Amino acid sequence: MKYVGAHVSTTGGVENAPLNAHRIGAKAFALFTKNQRQWAAAPYTANNVELFHQRCRELGYDASHILPHDSYLINLGNPDPDALEKSRAAFLDEMLRCEQLGLKLLNFHPGSSLKKISDEDCLRLIAESINRTLDKTTSVCAVIENTAGQGSNLGYSFEQLAYIIERVEDKSRVGVCIDTCHAFAAGYDLKSESGFQDTFEHFGNVVGFQYLKGMHLNDSKKGLGSRVDRHEVIGQGELGLDTFRWIMQDSRFDDIPLILETPDEERWTEEIRMLYQFGKS
Ligand SMILES: [Zn+2]
Ligand SMILES: [Zn+2]
Repeated sequence: MKYVGAHVSTTGGVENAPLNAHRIGAKAFALFTKNQRQWAAAPYTANNVELFHQRCRELGYDASHILPHDSYLINLGNPDPDALEKSRAAFLDEMLRCEQLGLKLLNFHPGSSLKKISDEDCLRLIAESINRTLDKTTSVCAVIENTAGQGSNLGYSFEQLAYIIERVEDKSRVGVCIDTCHAFAAGYDLKSESGFQDTFEHFGNVVGFQYLKGMHLNDSKKGLGSRVDRHEVIGQGELGLDTFRWIMQDSRFDDIPLILETPDEERWTEEIRMLYQFGKS
């Protein structure tokens, strides 16, 4: 079964996320656990947590189909020791917030070398950051997102994702989220049917589908290998509709959150409906 949703707003409180997801016909959703552009956030109140639980239960959202996303400020591979410490503390805080909400996944962009250290050194710092966070928490899985490779952002190749996973001690609490726009911008041809099949065969060999905990379904404004991260409405970008039809008809993408991060939230209801239609044809 497919669990399609979108990255919904938490304006007014985290407990509003399940309501916002339900309103657009989503069976899964993503959310920020706090303001994604600020370091500090007020802790959740007991009321926030209780309402969040209650609404998820009532509206039928299971924790395995909810994919929280961390703050954009966090860089778990930051070469500067003080900045790295700050990022690690913020990441731990986010994971603890997820645990408080009873969530199981935390999606994050791996990190950036800022061109001050080698890619390998940066990837090792990221793995170490994950290990430290998992040591201090008990249940949430660290879900590494592939990137477009813009600037000095790492995690744009499946090999880099595998390199991090190899160095994570608790393999039961690490996974990946593949963003279709990022993969395409990073040079994976998801537009042609043979490219799509080759890409995911390669993913299976290098990373392994057992690590796939979620997908971000986004069309891409920019071309194959552009290394530019610009999402587009499904079917209106460089990828086109077929990529998403193949995903919806492929059982390797069953039972994980499939999350839209497309730019026009007015269209999410329609995009979700269309994706479910693809699954039936
Ligand atoms: Zn994404
Ligand atoms: Zn993106």
